[in-house]
Amino acid sequence: MQNGLVFPFPTAPQPGNVIEVVPGILWARMPLPFRLDHVNVYLIDDGDGWAVLDTGIGDETTRAAWETLLAGPLSGKRLTRLIVTHFHPDHIGLAGWLSRRFDLPLLTSQTSYLGCLNISLSPGALDANPYREFYLRHGLDAGTTNTVSTRGHEYLKMVTALPPTFRRLVAGDTLKLGERTFSVYTGDGHAPEQVMLYCQEEKLLLAADQVLAKISPNVSVWAVEPEGDPLCLYLRSLTALSTAIVADALVLPGHQLPFYGLHTRIGELIEHHKRRCAAIADVCRNAPKSAAEIVPVVFHLPLDPHQMSFAFSEVLAHVNFMLGQGELVWGESENGIRKMIAV
Ligand SMILES: [Zn+2]
Ligand SMILES: [Zn+2]
Repeated sequence: MQNGLVFPFPTAPQPGNVIEVVPGILWARMPLPFRLDHVNVYLIDDGDGWAVLDTGIGDETTRAAWETLLAGPLSGKRLTRLIVTHFHPDHIGLAGWLSRRFDLPLLTSQTSYLGCLNISLSPGALDANPYREFYLRHGLDAGTTNTVSTRGHEYLKMVTALPPTFRRLVAGDTLKLGERTFSVYTGDGHAPEQVMLYCQEEKLLLAADQVLAKISPNVSVWAVEPEGDPLCLYLRSLTALSTAIVADALVLPGHQLPFYGLHTRIGELIEHHKRRCAAIADVCRNAPKSAAEIVPVVFHLPLDPHQMSFAFSEVLAHVNFMLGQGELVWGESENGIRKMIAV
């Protein structure tokens, strides 16, 4: 028990192993070469085989981890289908490889498929002047602007080419896997049209990255949609989830441990974002600030360019949300850098 959450499986599965979280649903982990060093994948009983939910990134280490799983705990049963929750590389990275290798249909949301395809077709598209200018106009330094602008190439290094076709999952769909019936939910904010699956009968929520036990999922504004309000969409999705899903559901998330306490955690996440907004309002009350100047107010540790690019994009998500709520307004630009003030 921690923060009101209950973790029924306090130890995660070792690489190459699985934990049966309920009969017919296996939890495995794939390594990630980041500070967040793993992603959860789930194998769901699908009659004569396993449906796979999420894949890990498209590198040799993850391929090898899949080989170990397939030769070990998954041996003797085929893979049937591949479900991908969202287009981030830790979830969709090996979708192409797995689907080709095992002839699996890919089930995902349209936005996940097209989002991945878009970057894959044109990884350099983000490195264009309108996007660079957007970051510079908000006060981001040249080095970090470069990191954000070339992120498409980094993405592509972690993602294998998608299969040419997919089966679309839409919110409100019913998906039958083996004997289980899942309702398809989607949520925005962390990634557009992120897929979640809920088995009402057994009170099981495959929550992807929408609700994690101990970290607040990244919510970012990107230059391609400069006035986007993903934080508003994220908060809306959290509220919808707490209405639709019972409080005592077992949450099977994309990272960290499965847990009970969905409504508690949703409350904490909403509070976390409210606190950040309050801190931003405080600092913008005395003098106009740029988005870049707000970053150290929200993120206290030193950040490398990669972390800074995410921190900056998350600050912008708060800024756009607060502009939308009328809590901030734009002030005068200084040296071409936009500044905002609290109302
Ligand atoms: Zn994600
Ligand atoms: Zn993730």
